[in-house]
Amino acid sequence: MINPDSGAMDAPTSYETRPPWDDGSIAEPPTLPRRTDVVVVGGGVMGAAAAYELALRGVSVVLLEMGRIGGEQSGRNWGWIRQAARDEDELPLMQASVRRWAELSTELSDDFEWTQKGNLAIARDPARIAFFEAWLKVAKAAGLESRIVDERETKRLLPELAGSWLGALHTPSDAHAEPWLATRAIGAGAAARGAIVAEGTVVDGILVDRGRVTGVTTERGVIHASTVVCAAGVWTAPLLYGVGVDLPIRIVRSTAARTKPVAPLSEMGVGYHPVVSFRQRPNGALYVAAGGWSDYDVTLDSFRHLRAFLPNYIKNRRLLKVHVGRPLLEDVGRRARRRDLAWRLRQGRVLSPALSAEKVRMSVAKFREIFPSVPIEVDRAWAGYTDATPDAVPVIDAVASPGGLVIAAGFSGHGFGMGAIVGKLLAEQIVDGRPSHDLHPFRLGRFADGTFRRPRLVA
Ligand SMILES: Cc1cc2nc3c(=O)[nH]c(=O)nc-3n(C[C@H](O)[C@H](O)[C@H](O)COP(=O)(O)OP(=O)(O)OC[C@H]3O[C@@H](n4cnc5c(N)ncnc54)[C@H](O)[C@@H]3O)c2cc1C
Repeated sequence: MINPDSGAMDAPTSYETRPPWDDGSIAEPPTLPRRTDVVVVGGGVMGAAAAYELALRGVSVVLLEMGRIGGEQSGRNWGWIRQAARDEDELPLMQASVRRWAELSTELSDDFEWTQKGNLAIARDPARIAFFEAWLKVAKAAGLESRIVDERETKRLLPELAGSWLGALHTPSDAHAEPWLATRAIGAGAAARGAIVAEGTVVDGILVDRGRVTGVTTERGVIHASTVVCAAGVWTAPLLYGVGVDLPIRIVRSTAARTKPVAPLSEMGVGYHPVVSFRQRPNGALYVAAGGWSDYDVTLDSFRHLRAFLPNYIKNRRLLKVHVGRPLLEDVGRRARRRDLAWRLRQGRVLSPALSAEKVRMSVAKFREIFPSVPIEVDRAWAGYTDATPDAVPVIDAVASPGGLVIAAGFSGHGFGMGAIVGKLLAEQIVDGRPSHDLHPFRLGRFADGTFRRPRLVA
């Protein structure tokens, strides 16, 4: 399904091409129990937060991560914790997530650079302002204080911004954090509260007996559990096929770049433009990325659920660069050699997809155009795979069959910000059977019964 090195690097680069923390080290796993209440598969922000919240509630939980906690999307993303321009079903969860992140910033021992000073989406195109106006109705209904500000206010908030602008969407309660630090802090918090957290442990399959999950098989033996949370990011769909659950997912490649530190750009630290989004860390380093632009490598799985994905492909056709080549050939080769999921998981223990140098160039050029007085120099860039659903909102669901299986996946490139609340909701679902937010819009069944919306009102 996945080629760890898919996509071509399209130009020689003068910067390091992997995430700063990616030194190849994986912690020696602890001794694993043979039985626990809950197994969580996947140590991204979703799995780590679920394990943390379950441990807080006194549940015995084992978190299994085949690579490193935060080693995939959750440690490679830009770090936005954004309510602005969210889908109307996601917005209440995001509002609650921002509150939960704020609590976590004091509850957890490790600092993760939590910053809540707002977010500005700048616009010089009337269509974009019209989109903001339409979305403000969604914000108002949810009680979120977002507003459109004029050019003067935009430039007051972003003093180095050059050129003429129609205005911006300002969301004062939006936030950001350093994703690798945040996911690791939550994982460490889970361990400190009694969860068993094992890196370097591949889950090969989910065990089911008479319609209920009974545990998982791992490369280090079986663990029995009556509940399994599958939060395995891009590997969730193939793991679920093994137990007859069909999750429609497309794997998209996104690139991020980091610059050497520069003087503070604004108090907020984050800003969004369709061609360049940026976030500044407290140490002055900027993350720049090509807004909504990303890459898509065609594989044999691209032909699954094609009809469901078509409306979003069509809507985003300008933003998604489709690559047909090596990844497809390698996928055909793997199928011909009958490589099973266990083999593929071990090969892809930490996926390091090739970044798009084109996206780095694009975002840096746009940044320099709109902030000509800010001298940026990229010192690192990297890519990560995201798992997208046909309607670009996640699946968060305790499915009926098999019983005991809970899915949290398909966060469609904007899940980091939701991590804090998703962990809490999963724990509430498992412990009380009643999450504090309505998860109906996120049920898996919407794809089978055709009730999902396509495409949605999202930026
Ligand atoms: C470049 C980039 C920028 C982004 N920017 C933002 C942003 O600014 N804001 C935002 O909200 N979101 C952003 N996102 C999206 C966000 O990172 C993801 O939606 C989120 O991290 C998903 O978390 P997750 O826990 O579901 O998945 P992951 O982080 O992928 O975690 C899943 C984990 O499961 C493990 N795993 C998989 N299979 C197995 C197995 N069989 N056994 C054991 N372990 C397994 C994997 O190794 C992985 O660590 C961005 C993503 C990228 C790539």
